[in-house]
Amino acid sequence: MLKEISGLNDSCIKQLCIAGTWRPGTGPLYESRYPATGEVVGVLNAASPEDVEEAIQGAHDAFLHSGWAQRKPHERAAVLYRIAQLIREEAESLAQLQRLDNGKPISETRALVASAAGTFQFFASACETLEEAITPSRGDYLSMSIYEPMGVVAAITPWNSPIASEAQKIAPALAAGNAVVVKPAEITPLLALELARICEQAGLPKGLISVLPGKGSVIGDLITRHPLVRRVSFTGGTSVGRHIAQIAADKFMPVSLELGGKSPTIVLEDADLDHAVAGVLYGIFSSSGESCIAGSRLFVARSLYDQFLQRLVRGAEQLRVGDPADPATQMGPLVSNSHRESVERYVQKGVEEGGRILTGGARPAGGIYDRGSFYRPTIIEGLENTATICQEEIFGPVLVTLPFDDVDDLVSQANDSVYALAAGIWTRDYKKAWRLAQAVKAGNVWINTYKQFSISTPFGGWRDSGLGREKGRLGILQYMEQKSVYWGLNEQPLPWAN
Ligand code: NAP
Ligand code: MG
Repeated sequence: MLKEISGLNDSCIKQLCIAGTWRPGTGPLYESRYPATGEVVGVLNAASPEDVEEAIQGAHDAFLHSGWAQRKPHERAAVLYRIAQLIREEAESLAQLQRLDNGKPISETRALVASAAGTFQFFASACETLEEAITPSRGDYLSMSIYEPMGVVAAITPWNSPIASEAQKIAPALAAGNAVVVKPAEITPLLALELARICEQAGLPKGLISVLPGKGSVIGDLITRHPLVRRVSFTGGTSVGRHIAQIAADKFMPVSLELGGKSPTIVLEDADLDHAVAGVLYGIFSSSGESCIAGSRLFVARSLYDQFLQRLVRGAEQLRVGDPADPATQMGPLVSNSHRESVERYVQKGVEEGGRILTGGARPAGGIYDRGSFYRPTIIEGLENTATICQEEIFGPVLVTLPFDDVDDLVSQANDSVYALAAGIWTRDYKKAWRLAQAVKAGNVWINTYKQFSISTPFGGWRDSGLGREKGRLGILQYMEQKSVYWGLNEQPLPWAN
C-alpha cells in the first residue's frame, strides 16, 4: 500500500484509536508532513465512515457500561490528574512531535504542551469541587438542581494549536462523565492520538475516547449528524461553524463554536511605546499569524502613526524567522504550501485595492526557507477599513495598519466587522482604557498586553466569531445536562384525591 510513498513500509503506519482498539483506519492513506522541510513525519489511513460508526457505538457502550459516569467526581478527577502528570513527564517528546506536526517553533509547542497539562489539572479540580444546588423552596417540597453527563460528545479541532485545543475539549468532557470522539484536523493528527494513548495509560476505561483523523467534510460531518452524538464542541473557521450549527439545529443539539477573527488593536497617543510595539508584533506574528485571536488590524493615533510604524517595521524585520527546532526562533513556517498560497492571494488583493507593503509581502529565500512554507512578516498600509484584507481573516503573518483621528470614529471602525473575537488596547490612561474596553465588541479584550490566556478565564467570541464559552471553572457545565428534582415533603396528599 505504501509503494507510492518511498522509503516507508507498513510498520510505519500510525494506528488510530477506535472504540478502545488501536489499529489503522480503513479510510484513504495519507501523509503528514513537517512544514519546515516537507519531510514526511507520519503516514496513516484516515478514518472511514465505518470507523466513525464503530467509534461512536463503542463510545456509547463505554458510556453505558464502563462505570465512568457513575464514578464519584474525585475518582474521575484522579484519572485526569494522572493524565496531566503523564503529559508533563512526556512534555519534551510531545513538544517535538507537535513541532513536526504543524511547524510551530519549539518554544511555542513547549508552552502548548504545558497548557494541555494545566487544562487537565484544572478540570480535575473543577470536577471534584463542582457543587449542585438546593434551590429556594416555594412549596412543601425540597427542590434541587443537579447535573448529569450527556453521553457521547464530539470534539472537532483545527490544525493551528493541536494538543491545547484538544485538551480544552477532552478534559471537561471526560471530567463531566462523558465519552468523547475526537476529529483532529486531517493535516495535524498526531498529538490527538498521543493524547488518547496517555488517557488510556492513565486509567481511562477503553472506548471512552476515540480519535478519528480524516477529511472534515466527510468524517466531521458524519460525526456531527450522528444521532448518538449529543454535543459538538468545534474550533475552526466560520463557514464550517455555520454548517455545524445548521446540522445541530435539526437535532436540537447544543454546540460550542470557537471561530475566526479580525481583531483590532488600538494604540492611543499616550501608550508606552516599547510595550505597544512588542505587544503588536507578538499579537500578529507569533504562531505566524495562524491564530484566531491574531491582532491583525492595527489602529494608531495619527500623531503617533509615522513614528510607531517605523519602529514596527524595524521590529518586524528583526524577527527571527526560521528553523522551528531552534529555541531562539520566533516565527516558523506556515502550516502548508497551499495555506501560504492563500495568504499570498490576500496580500496581492491588498495591493490591488491600493495597499502599500511596508515590509514583507514575499517568501524569504535560501537554506531552509527554500524547502518549507515560510513567509515574511508583512505590514500593509494605505487601505480603508472596508478593504478586503481589513474585513476577511487571512490567518497568516499579515498586519494592516490604519491611522485614526477621533475616538468615536475609531470605535465604529473597530466594530465594523462580522467578527468580534478579541481586541487590544494600549494606553497609560486607565479611564480611557476602560471606556474603550466597554465600547469594543469582542469576547476578549487585552489592555496593555495581548494574547495572554488562562484556563481559569472563559474564552469565546461574539457574532461570526462563535457561540458559547470554553474554559473557566464552569466550562465543565457545557458538557452536562441540567436536571431539576423535587422531593415532596407534604403530610397531606395534593388536593385532588377528595
Ligand atoms: P476549518 O477548516 O473550519 O477546520 C476545523 C476542523 O473542522 C477540522 O478538523 C476540519 O477538518 C473540520 N471540518 C471541515 N469541514 C467540516 C464539516 N463539514 N463538518 C465537520 N467538520 C468539518 O478550520 P481550519 O482551516 O482548520 O482552521 C482555521 C480556522 O479556525 C480559522 O478561521 C481560525 O480563526 C479558526 N480558529 C478559531 C479558534 C477559536 O478558538 N476561536 C482557534 C483556532 C482556530 P479538515 O481536517 O478536513 O480541515
Ligand atoms: Mg481546513
